[in-house]
Amino acid sequence: MRQYLFTIIFLSLSPILIFAKDISLQILGSGGPEFSKRASSSYIIWVDGKAKVLVDAGGGAFLRFTQSGAKIEDLEFMALTHLHIDHSADLPAFMKAGYFSKRTTVLPILGTTGARDFPNINEYLQRLFGKKGAYAYMNDILTPQSDSFQIKPIMFNQGFNSKNFGQIMVGTVGVAHGKVPAIAYCINIAGKKIVFAGDTSASSDKLISLAQDADYLVIHHAIPQDAGHFAKLLHITPKRIGEVAQKAKIKHLVLSHRMKRTYNAENESLKLIRESFRGDIIWAEDLLTLEVE
Ligand SMILES: [Zn+2]
Repeated sequence: MRQYLFTIIFLSLSPILIFAKDISLQILGSGGPEFSKRASSSYIIWVDGKAKVLVDAGGGAFLRFTQSGAKIEDLEFMALTHLHIDHSADLPAFMKAGYFSKRTTVLPILGTTGARDFPNINEYLQRLFGKKGAYAYMNDILTPQSDSFQIKPIMFNQGFNSKNFGQIMVGTVGVAHGKVPAIAYCINIAGKKIVFAGDTSASSDKLISLAQDADYLVIHHAIPQDAGHFAKLLHITPKRIGEVAQKAKIKHLVLSHRMKRTYNAENESLKLIRESFRGDIIWAEDLLTLEVE
């Protein structure tokens, strides 16, 4: 029922969102949480020459963001798929640099509910910038009291959700990632649909519902097919990537979060993905830009 409602909400909004726009997806970080020449997870969506959406901010994202030519003042929001270090650790650096930028408007920071070792997005920002936070000296970013722009947490639960940010509609759903609260994002702009799976084993079909008919699905190729049991609780296998992409009828599949245990297993993974999926497949590289046509 909730999936149905989600579709209805999207369809009723889509006429006002369909204008021809120049949209592209740029990979800032194609790696995982290792010492590597790849930055950790981070992605931008460009609309008419402006960086409108930043998804995840793992280590290295901060430098890649500048290298891409993006400006923090153009962002409609930042979205975090979950609070593992390789998806979130550069966030304080963005905030500090933002203070020295031209940004004056509130920057929404989208994230998840909490569980066990993981704070919810509101607690996370409080633990960083709250009065007793690690960076309490930056407290003015949470409460208007100086020249700083403000940030505002927006929390999504594990169900199907949708929320508008200007002309961008964001859909979310909880995805299985071991015991970590994690969500996938579906970004709808001008009739185009770009989905970020985040880290997930994709053990449920919720990601398939969210990603239905997407122009792009960015998914994580973090393990080879013969990975161990515990790795498979956290990450999707190549075989399952193929199933998800085929069932969701994805046009372009982007394989990212490339970890060292998958180096040289790429051809084997492609074979397994191709058992189900016939569409376009792209291996992510830092700063690679993909047109959304
Ligand atoms: Zn990760």
